[in-house]
Amino acid sequence: QYILAIETSCDETAAAIILNGREIISNVVASQIESQKRFGGVVPEVASRHHVEQITMIIEETLEKANMQPSELTAVAVTEGPGLVGALLIGINAAKAFAFAHSLPLIPVHHIAGHIYANELVEPMQFPLLALVVSGGHTELVFMKEHGSFEVIGETRDDAAGEAYDKVARVLNMPYPGGPHIDRLAHEAEEGVEFPRAWLEENSYDFSFSGLKSAVINYKHNMDQRGEEIDPQKVAKGFQDSVVEVLTTKTLRAARQYQVKQVIAAGGVSANKGLRTSLEQAFEEAKISFVVPPLKLCTDNAAMIGAAAAHMYNAGVRGNLAMNGLPGKELKSWI
Ligand code: ATP
Ligand code: MG
Ligand code: FE
Repeated sequence: QYILAIETSCDETAAAIILNGREIISNVVASQIESQKRFGGVVPEVASRHHVEQITMIIEETLEKANMQPSELTAVAVTEGPGLVGALLIGINAAKAFAFAHSLPLIPVHHIAGHIYANELVEPMQFPLLALVVSGGHTELVFMKEHGSFEVIGETRDDAAGEAYDKVARVLNMPYPGGPHIDRLAHEAEEGVEFPRAWLEENSYDFSFSGLKSAVINYKHNMDQRGEEIDPQKVAKGFQDSVVEVLTTKTLRAARQYQVKQVIAAGGVSANKGLRTSLEQAFEEAKISFVVPPLKLCTDNAAMIGAAAAHMYNAGVRGNLAMNGLPGKELKSWI
């Protein structure tokens, strides 16, 4: 089973071919980071234009690298949402055209299911499973009792973890996307500035990062007023320590309560070195299997969409030519 997968939900134009949901045959990602940098974030209209320019070439390159013809494919998968609607529609229309031209079934994939299934490209999931999803737009704890079954047991009430990283980076005059810069700076400091941790109610698996973000902004403001320079490394470390401690503690507590066999991390922020180290240590001590994808598969890519689509295909999920972009699509079980 060979699935051609397409992902254009944000600022990466990506396509991949996945064999049997587990093996990457080819994986091409064209990032727009360089041109979005000037705006300090993703401008939807700019993203759409880039996707239009790139998508045909990226699909061709993906087939060429795999040395495959469209007739050898089993299905075409594409991200249906969530994401920027204009950006999503470029991928969806490319997928529709390709599927129609080559008489292939279409599979609509949820972007976050894709992030979670990136882990299947590392090793097979073990159920029951807990996924910590930390990305640019999402921070969620998802319980899965089997393939295609998702129960969101906690989520952010305000900013996503990645969003907080990007905003704090801006305060520190770091370019977009800020996550990797904060990560690097944090590792250059011995000690961090003390910032609060948002634990919320005692039993809650929800998250909140806007208070932390405000604390960083206020800290900078107060220092400015006193005419003092901030130490970006100490601020980065203080911020990252707070994010990592809350994410690790809540994930560990949920893993124990739900008695999961495996914990996985997913999404762009799971590329964070501080977070990876903290989660690895916590679950080694707890003797619970922990998996996180290699950095390249943490941020947006189409390989992960193909990995999720393989299971959806086997479960009989199909899209059609009336498919639309669903910018606010919720993570729903497909079984
Ligand atoms: P979503 O998946 O929620 O729709 P998205 O697709 O824009 O959002 P991703 O591509 O999964 O998000 O992740 C991008 C985010 O990951 C950005 O906010 C970026 O700053 C963050 N990020 C990337 N690398 C790191 C890192 N090393 N440390 C912290 N954050 C990081
Ligand atoms: Mg991106
Ligand atoms: Fe993403």
